[in-house]
Amino acid sequence: MLTEELQAITHQYVMNTYDRLPLSIVRGQGSKVYDAEGRAYLDCVGGIAVNALGYGHPDLVASIERQVRQLIHTSNLFYTEPHAKLARELAEQSFADKVFFANSGAEANEAAIKLARKYSHDHFGPNRSEILTMENSFHGRTLATLTATGQTKVQHGFEPLVPGFRYVPYNDLQALEANVTEHTAAIMLEPILGEGGVVVASADYLKAVRNLCTARNILLIFDEIQTGMGRTGTLFAYQQFGIQPDIMTLGKGLGGGIPIGACLATDTVAKAFTYGTHGSTFGGNPLACTAALQVLRILLEGEELKRSQERGNYLHKGLLAMQERFPIIKEVRGRGLLQGIELTVDGKPIVMDCLARRVIINCTMGHVLRFIPPLIITQAEIDVLLTTLTDVLSKRQ
Ligand SMILES: *Cc1c(COP(=O)(O)O)cnc(C)c1O
Repeated sequence: MLTEELQAITHQYVMNTYDRLPLSIVRGQGSKVYDAEGRAYLDCVGGIAVNALGYGHPDLVASIERQVRQLIHTSNLFYTEPHAKLARELAEQSFADKVFFANSGAEANEAAIKLARKYSHDHFGPNRSEILTMENSFHGRTLATLTATGQTKVQHGFEPLVPGFRYVPYNDLQALEANVTEHTAAIMLEPILGEGGVVVASADYLKAVRNLCTARNILLIFDEIQTGMGRTGTLFAYQQFGIQPDIMTLGKGLGGGIPIGACLATDTVAKAFTYGTHGSTFGGNPLACTAALQVLRILLEGEELKRSQERGNYLHKGLLAMQERFPIIKEVRGRGLLQGIELTVDGKPIVMDCLARRVIINCTMGHVLRFIPPLIITQAEIDVLLTTLTDVLSKRQ
């Protein structure tokens, strides 16, 4: 089916929640996707930080194929090996002791919010349920997670919102301290704002937040749905800041494209979830867990994680060099393969110009170009991105 026909059917039958690019993707290989007309595009968005291993990674495909034949789904009424093994692997690779599996980022955050409230309720009674989150954060689109999200544009029209959330400016310790009260149960934040424009928190700030939480018995929740799974050069971003959260959520790249989310916590905190307090029909199903386990193995056993860190640095340096040339680049920010450039102008036309040159990039907050390619992107492909961007920006000077 050609793109125009597909567009017509989609607009007629699909609810109108997405502003799609005029491109229909048929297949992918490595860091490239191919459209209905057979044209190749370098994909520097990677399914929005989901396709961490790119497209068609042979080991990932093989393990998914094997699991599809063996068992796609049963339910959480039974034990399955992929579920148990993935939980063990995530616990061994992180600060956490226990895991709850969900099907998306928002669901992982729902679990984290419920867990934090339950823990606080169990330990401190019913009047300590407030969660502080950050301005310009993004935590999802369900009612609780859009309430946690510190952006009114995500919340508008869906009131009444879930009670018990308050927002503070990001990377601002004083503002945070001023807002902590005897009702504060948890502080929830992304170590790098992803949807909020690729803003990196300072290590000093995160350490101070950790100390504040410890001193006041407040839970620290890291939303690593975008920053986790090697995206920033280490398996989890918190590992670069010398601190540990009490709860962490994962999603996006976790399943390499198969939907899965996870909420991880220390033993003490995880104890608040007892039989019947939370659940999910699909959560942690054998197919999703097999995919995630294979993604972890590929990242950890090969050189993939290390190489992605090097490529991230290479991209960052390339973008910094561009900043020297183009005054419309206000700032270059990011870690690993989560990079952004803040522009003094609207980013959308630049995304469209890159698309016309067969390079897919993304824009957040209206004026921040974001680069979240597959972690397997090659240096030569990063060069294609950089020269394309240079070309596009020079034509706009
Ligand atoms: C994408 C994202 C979410 C939401 O994940 P979904 O799978 O879309 O529900 C939550 N938090 C962060 C930081 C994200 O980047």
